[in-house]
Amino acid sequence: MSVRVYFDNSATTPLDPEVARAMQPFHEGLFGNPSSLHQAGREARAAVEAARGEVAGLVGAEPAEIVFTGSGTEADNLALVGAFEKDPARRHFVASAIEHPAVLETLRHLESRGAAVTLVLPDSDGVVSADDVAAALRPDSRLVSVMAANNVVGTLQPVAAIGRLCRERGVLFHTDAVQAAGKMPLDVRADAIDLLSLSAHKLHGPKGVGALFVRKGVTLAPVVHGGGQERGLRSATENVAGIVGFGRATALARATRADEAARLVALRDRLLNGLAASVPSLHLLGHRFRRLPGHLCLALAGHEGETIKLLLALDEAGIAVSTGSACSASHASQPSHVLVAMGLDPIRARGSLRLTLGRFSTDAEVARFLAVFPNIVASLRPVMSRPLASA
Ligand code: PLP
Repeated sequence: MSVRVYFDNSATTPLDPEVARAMQPFHEGLFGNPSSLHQAGREARAAVEAARGEVAGLVGAEPAEIVFTGSGTEADNLALVGAFEKDPARRHFVASAIEHPAVLETLRHLESRGAAVTLVLPDSDGVVSADDVAAALRPDSRLVSVMAANNVVGTLQPVAAIGRLCRERGVLFHTDAVQAAGKMPLDVRADAIDLLSLSAHKLHGPKGVGALFVRKGVTLAPVVHGGGQERGLRSATENVAGIVGFGRATALARATRADEAARLVALRDRLLNGLAASVPSLHLLGHRFRRLPGHLCLALAGHEGETIKLLLALDEAGIAVSTGSACSASHASQPSHVLVAMGLDPIRARGSLRLTLGRFSTDAEVARFLAVFPNIVASLRPVMSRPLASA
């Protein structure tokens, strides 16, 4: 049987078998509610607190600064809505124009409630400049949100420079580290980060669990109200098995990060060089070097209208990739807001393909992709693009 290829690790990652093993007892005998005072409850509480320590360790935080949430999206919502509701008088928010919808749509919601939002454009490589963020600040600025790594193009942002700037100006700094966590070093102290979002399923943990780092001394209003779990910031009975899996996944990511990053860079570059040699109409989007280790975003000139056809042909050959981002699959005919913000022509922006490698990606998968892809591209009917200048 031919090798199946999964190059969509930015959409989600397969659960690591070690993580699944760590979670198993909490699906079976260990079912207690962490808020219960009896033994079953205490066992669950101990497991949640051990996981909190692991998650904190990944970003250089203290365990008490980690709030478990139901997803990365919810962590972003808690950071932004929580900051707005705590101090509605300082109503100005700054974010990059290439944030995930979990940030951009939340800001749009806050606008409808009276917030003012300034979006900062990246350069043509998808990198946001700290100077541009500084220029966007106002006396009533409350919070800046710039992601650590972008999900569409994989570009890394100057988080430390933006963090220092915000600290000097007395503005909260939130970074969405959902894509970056476990793939690059993150240190909330060195980078002057006040709020940082994480999601377990992007680092070989389970779906439906995330976390928000809330620096000691930063106060937020809760978004979910109820029994007061998670220091009152996220009421709900904790997803104990999910949190345990998240803890194990972060411990594994931390232990393997440096070696894994080097392996993925080598694998990614083999893939990129092989494609450059066999499909000259492809070119890389995003910064060549300041990018996530396993991330490639490619534009296929001349086939802009056929990305979905290409994706389906690859799927038929047992190869999973993504256009732009999984979150925009329902808007597949729309150009990615990230690529448009980078200044790409909207027609070109529709022709992007995202290949994202992960812990279980192999040489054999790269070889299979390189063998199949040129033939699939050759089988596509060349498309007459509209003149690019007119768009
Ligand atoms: N932020 C970024 C940068 C992401 O890539 C994603 C998921 O694709 C999210 C937030 C949302 O995370 P979750 O799927 O846990 O809600």
